[in-house]
Amino acid sequence: MNTSGSILEQRFQAIRLNVVLAVAMAFVVFSAITNLVDPPPDLRTALGSPKTWLAATTLGAALICLYRPQTLNIAAGTLLALTMFSLPFEVRWHIDNQAIPMNMFVWLMVYLLCAYVVFGTRVGGVLNSVSVGIMLLALVSDPPTTPVLVSSWLTGLIVLSVLGVLGYSIIHFIEINLLLHVQDNARLRAARLDALTGVYGRGAIEEELKRSMSSAQQANTPVSIVVTDIDHFKCVNDLHGHNTGDDVLRAVAKCLRRNVGRMGGVVGRWGGEEFVVLLPGVSRTDALAVAEQLRREVSAIPLGGLPITASFGVAAFRGTGDSPEKMFGRADVAMYEAKRAGRNAVR
Ligand code: GH3
Ligand code: MG
Ligand code: MG
Repeated sequence: MNTSGSILEQRFQAIRLNVVLAVAMAFVVFSAITNLVDPPPDLRTALGSPKTWLAATTLGAALICLYRPQTLNIAAGTLLALTMFSLPFEVRWHIDNQAIPMNMFVWLMVYLLCAYVVFGTRVGGVLNSVSVGIMLLALVSDPPTTPVLVSSWLTGLIVLSVLGVLGYSIIHFIEINLLLHVQDNARLRAARLDALTGVYGRGAIEEELKRSMSSAQQANTPVSIVVTDIDHFKCVNDLHGHNTGDDVLRAVAKCLRRNVGRMGGVVGRWGGEEFVVLLPGVSRTDALAVAEQLRREVSAIPLGGLPITASFGVAAFRGTGDSPEKMFGRADVAMYEAKRAGRNAVR
């Protein structure tokens, strides 16, 4: 079973990384082109400009993220902090030089959207509000004087606000749907699992058995099942209490899982103290050996603190005409033969 996050979550994570890398590279290329189109008078001026440092840091952070995607949040956080720090200087530079702040607004919008994508709407919203606040403070403390500049700053601020709200709404919509998907997934998983032991429930193991049988039929490969029932389990409950009985059931389930997990075996609780082990790709002869190994394991160590034994019955898929019910029936009959033979046995 996959516990490392759903495919949708992994895809969303990959999209976040790609968006940030694309923005970072676009900013680096943009900075290089603006330096080429409008070259600084000398190297010293170029190296002293905040834009050069921001571009160099962005490039470094993007390369680190490419190598180690898990550093995405740290890299993006550092870049956002640097952008915030450089904002008052950028505003001051535009006002002093009476320059239209077009480029600055374009990049600011991209950074605001990135903050939502990387940090989500809650943290991203706080970071973006701080950035806009810093910019407004810088602007109010030294406002533009000509009508053209005033109108260009106002236009920029209006577009920034509209895009900010739009970006927030889109990312918020994605977040809510992703959350619903994660919750649905968890509910589906919980419904398929047996609440006490954590192995597959009866419905799920029946489904798995049907699926394995039809793929075995198509690929002409074997599939076997082992049915196992704990011996004298009623005595465990009667002598040690129901809670100890539950501990034994959990321990037996864990023991079965541990032993067949690596070979692709699937464990389910059929009901009460009876389990089914599904062994795709395993012939009857090999399944008998697996069952013998399980019998030895169960009886070798105390499970739930008690010495326990169990009886095992094996059945293999017989091809066309066979059904899950018939196969389970044969394994159950074999298991009862093991009981009759004195228990703690495999048939
Ligand atoms: P045998 O060796 O023939 O299988 O004998 P047994 O005592 O194991 O079989 P029996 O069918 O007489 O008893 C099964 C017991 O399993 C009876 C029931 O109370 C107990 N049981 C079923 N489900 C649970 C459960 O979820 N928790 C606990 N603690 N006991 C359970
Ligand atoms: Mg029993
Ligand atoms: Mg039973």
